[in-house]
Amino acid sequence: MDNFTLLATMFIVAGVNAVFTFASSKNAGETVSTEWRRSSILLLIAFSLILTQSSWPKFISIIIANYLLLLGFYFQIYTALCFEFKKMAESKPYLKIITIVYALSFLYFTYIDFHTTYRIIIISSLLALCYGYAVVKTRKNWKESKNLLRTKEVFYLFGVACLFYIGRTVVTIIEFGQVNSLFDKNTMTTVAFLFLIFFNLVFLMGMFNATIREKNVLINREKEKLNHLFDFLSDTAKHLKLEDLYPSIEKVLRKSFKVNTAAIFLKDEGENSHSMNYVFNDLDLPLDEVKHFNKGEGLSGKAMEENRVITIDIDTYPNRHVADAYKSMGVTNLVGIPLKTAEGVMGAITVVYSTDLKKQNVFNSELFYYLGEQIALVLQNALLYKKLTQLAETDSMTGLLNRRKMQEMFDLELKKAKRSNQSLTVAIIDLDNFKNVNDNYGHDCGDRVIKNAARVFQKECRETDYISRWGEEFLCLYASSDMSAGLLVTERVRKAFEKQSYPCLDKANVTISAGMAEYHEGMTMDQLIAQADKALYEAKRKGRNRIEQAVIENT
Ligand code: GH3
Ligand code: MG
Ligand code: MG
Repeated sequence: MDNFTLLATMFIVAGVNAVFTFASSKNAGETVSTEWRRSSILLLIAFSLILTQSSWPKFISIIIANYLLLLGFYFQIYTALCFEFKKMAESKPYLKIITIVYALSFLYFTYIDFHTTYRIIIISSLLALCYGYAVVKTRKNWKESKNLLRTKEVFYLFGVACLFYIGRTVVTIIEFGQVNSLFDKNTMTTVAFLFLIFFNLVFLMGMFNATIREKNVLINREKEKLNHLFDFLSDTAKHLKLEDLYPSIEKVLRKSFKVNTAAIFLKDEGENSHSMNYVFNDLDLPLDEVKHFNKGEGLSGKAMEENRVITIDIDTYPNRHVADAYKSMGVTNLVGIPLKTAEGVMGAITVVYSTDLKKQNVFNSELFYYLGEQIALVLQNALLYKKLTQLAETDSMTGLLNRRKMQEMFDLELKKAKRSNQSLTVAIIDLDNFKNVNDNYGHDCGDRVIKNAARVFQKECRETDYISRWGEEFLCLYASSDMSAGLLVTERVRKAFEKQSYPCLDKANVTISAGMAEYHEGMTMDQLIAQADKALYEAKRKGRNRIEQAVIENT
């Protein structure tokens, strides 16, 4: 086989290479695809020029052809690096240096001092450098990123190519002056052509395999994502309480969507605003600065209003103050996901990404929307559950605890007091001369007074106090409070009542009387309440609008 036949084969291989590259590179991502196609076209043109060099001026056939050849090989290396490390290979400074040196040397050896041997030495040593660089760079990044090398075949091929061109340079130097033209019958030139054919085929196969492997990784990642989603759905079936549900939503966002910072918003009552109900914030963004939004406000409001997944690039975020602050903390994208139920949008989730979404494979707006729907469904259940338990535990007119719930809490607090020797005080509170209110101003007005009374209790008592409707009276339970602490609160309530005015009462005001008892070792709930009741009776007897303490009998 002569070198011309080999060159023709090389041309055919380059043609096949180009066809297959155009057909298959689109799966390899945008950058890789562009560079890969570019390399195949450059090689095809270069080989066609070399093959037909007798019909071209020397300048075109030798300088341009060899220059294109080198560029083609360079882009093959670049493609592989891009494929392997995406962003990391974006700058190509060494390309310029190598190609300029190369072009100048060719100009010199072709035009000024034509010398095939020099040319081979120069091109071979440059290619050896190129491939050496690729091997070193790949190995280094390979170790750092702890990734499996995707373009394995290509990586090893680069190693072999580097060795080959070193060999070729050395041999050419040893046999200096023996080659005058690429068409000379020379063992090393023949081997070089064979190697090139082999090289291009292996390169194509390697890139093929790499794209298939890449596709598999993507498919597996999708699968994993769905697995997390299914886990989430079966998991949440077990969580009826909101406080358990939120962490499990966080889990699915973290695992399936690689999110480490997000906030969940729910519509407020009246539906004209929405508030942040849950947040996780690994990026430490100042998310809590604004917790309440008006309708349509913020990314959450927009996602809710438009009922679609909204993605924002931080560079295009309208509020530049926020955008700059976020950007400095590494944020690249924000995503708003509506929480849609059959009844309408109930809220939104805003998600913050610190890796560019365009370069990530995690983002899929359809899947996000679907996730929003699923989350909305479980949230709706949890909210319903909360409402139902509230109904079961509270008095419908006042919203205070009902008798059943109060008994339960009383029991619990009594046990706590017994176990850890804590104090506990109760107060029974009764509206004074309330029958008169009903009789003189009507039952409706009476109801209003009672509702207002509940608000006064809620305002004046502490968060740790339990307040309930207890028959016609009110029962307050002050946990971890002794008589003096309990008295302080009850007195505050009594005074607040004196200041209340009721439109339906014609300036008349309503006062309260209270009887109080403190827990002492061995007492039951009934005993405590009976003592407080007795004290209340005393307060009424002594003229009302006052508080009486139970008399401690056994000391
Ligand atoms: P005292 O100062 O001795 O407590 O006199 P009083 O008139 O308030 O007598 P008492 O506490 O025994 O009567 C409570 C009245 O409150 C009896 C009942 O008609 C009325 N009442 C109880 N629950 C409600 C209610 O939900 N709405 C209204 N409008 N009235 C109620
Ligand atoms: Mg009364
Ligand atoms: Mg009463």
